[in-house]
Amino acid sequence: MGEQASVSEFDYVIVGAGSAGAVIASRLTEDPNVSVLLLEAGGWSREMLMKMPLGAHLGRHPHLSWGYVSEEIPFLGRPLPLPRGKAVGGSSLVNAMAYSRGHAKDYDQWRQMGCEGWGYADVLPYFRRSERSWRGEDKYHGGAGEMGVSRGGIPGRLYEETVAAAKALGYPESPDLHGELGEGFSIPEFTHWKGRRVSTAEAFLKPVRRRPNLTIRTGALANRVVLEGKRAAGVEYVHEGQVNTARARREVVLSGGTYNSPQLLMLSGIGPADELRGLGIEPVLDAPGVGRNLSEHASFFIAYRTRRPISLLRHLRWDRLAVNLANWWFLGGGPFAVQATTAHAQVRTRPELERPDIQIFFNPARMDARPWFPVLRPRQEDQINALAVLLHPDSRGWMSLRSADPRDPPRIFLNLFAERGDVDTIIKGLRIARQVFGAEPLAGLVAEEVMPGPGVQTDAEFEAYLKKVCLVSHHPVGTCKMGHDPMSVVDPQLRVHGIEGLRVADASIMPTVPGGNTNAPSIMVGEKAADLIRGTSLEPAEL
Ligand SMILES: Cc1cc2nc3c(=O)[nH]c(=O)nc-3n(C[C@H](O)[C@H](O)[C@H](O)COP(=O)(O)OP(=O)(O)OC[C@H]3O[C@@H](n4cnc5c(N)ncnc54)[C@H](O)[C@@H]3O)c2cc1C
Repeated sequence: MGEQASVSEFDYVIVGAGSAGAVIASRLTEDPNVSVLLLEAGGWSREMLMKMPLGAHLGRHPHLSWGYVSEEIPFLGRPLPLPRGKAVGGSSLVNAMAYSRGHAKDYDQWRQMGCEGWGYADVLPYFRRSERSWRGEDKYHGGAGEMGVSRGGIPGRLYEETVAAAKALGYPESPDLHGELGEGFSIPEFTHWKGRRVSTAEAFLKPVRRRPNLTIRTGALANRVVLEGKRAAGVEYVHEGQVNTARARREVVLSGGTYNSPQLLMLSGIGPADELRGLGIEPVLDAPGVGRNLSEHASFFIAYRTRRPISLLRHLRWDRLAVNLANWWFLGGGPFAVQATTAHAQVRTRPELERPDIQIFFNPARMDARPWFPVLRPRQEDQINALAVLLHPDSRGWMSLRSADPRDPPRIFLNLFAERGDVDTIIKGLRIARQVFGAEPLAGLVAEEVMPGPGVQTDAEFEAYLKKVCLVSHHPVGTCKMGHDPMSVVDPQLRVHGIEGLRVADASIMPTVPGGNTNAPSIMVGEKAADLIRGTSLEPAEL
């Protein structure tokens, strides 16, 4: 593993410069008297295409991901790839940028579960603090924060038709899903600004990276928390082949994400004691909840061939592609400067539900869209599609160590659809998407359903299709859940139960997955964690 190189000392040592960790490091070092070491296993991303809003480019830059793969999921009979960002900015650097916090009731549920200080009125000021919304500042949105949030969708690309079809079926149009009406069909919002993706690296770290009290060490893999008795004294990490120790005068903060924070706890002897012993790790604290309570958003697609060439493919003809790329790069404009998604819906599958249980994103392009040119490379068939997401799964998975070697990826058991109700709900969600495509004026634009196709009608047929094409939205949470029950790992101040000087602050602390996307909530966790550490707090919102 290398030889012991150096011992250094800081007030705070933070592991992980992702959505949450970057925010914490930036906020804590606002005080020049506080020193912070931010350890990040990846590096600064310099890939030009990673700055472009349109498209998912991660596939072309595998070095920016941890490249995890789940264990076989019994319901699907196959594993799923689980990319996680490995770079400054973490998963916020490689994600699909959707800005969706979930419903107010998701956070009130956290408070009801015993997470005092995390109700909607408590967390709203933290969402607002980091946000610079295209809407400007109002009761629900920040106007001057670090994270730029823009409206998505290419003007004239199917928003009106989708919403009109939804209204014909009785679904409302919401002017702002984060405002008074947290359900219905709405304009999609994304973390891009002036044509550039906004990661927490761009928003929170680049502007402050030269602060003398902030040390960002990249290419540094944390091995374990150094414990002195039941107190966290620092972090052991490998950098350029050498093992180093960074001591923390005040606290260690783990922000390694839903798979890596529990992994680090377990490597440090904090976790299910029998499991640790089985791997040759001497338990320091028997914490049975570490790695448990994993939940993730499952999703699947429905796709339609269009009557006319109205999909985004028109922008991918080689000559137009070149113009669009130049427009994006030099002027921050054109179709590549935004995330193209047409509409964002949050709907209830049963009227008696208190909050939406399905999210649907409508997209104006096929997922495998590729550049083309007449004769040389044929144009694909024009398709548009929708992605239905199960927002509040009952199924829970878990993760565990593969070995005591920190370089080994953890074993991840997603356990999707272990609860029958989850299957029934997501099928209802896809049926809703199908109804929308079947309603005018959208119906007049599509020729035929290509996925799953008109042959799939019964629940059993939908279930077979789900098994074939199910994906995840990459929103894992819950493996170091906050609370007071015996399976909780941190308290509502994010302090690890039973260990002094150690907090976890990232998506892993969320007791349930918010009914939206998880980047904004993870940034909110970072904002709140910084205040909990500093002993300050923002006034709860008046709602
Ligand atoms: C492909 C993809 C698409 C997504 N799309 C969306 C979307 O459209 N909208 C949305 O809201 N959310 C989306 N998400 C989810 C969202 O980005 C994450 O929920 C969020 O970024 C999690 O933040 P985090 O702080 O918990 O972890 P991360 O942002 O993953 O940060 C963890 C950091 O810790 C570092 N780290 C881990 N272990 C160690 C170690 N041992 N030593 C040193 N460093 C370490 C990692 O390299 C990483 O930088 C997506 C995620 C992915 C992967």
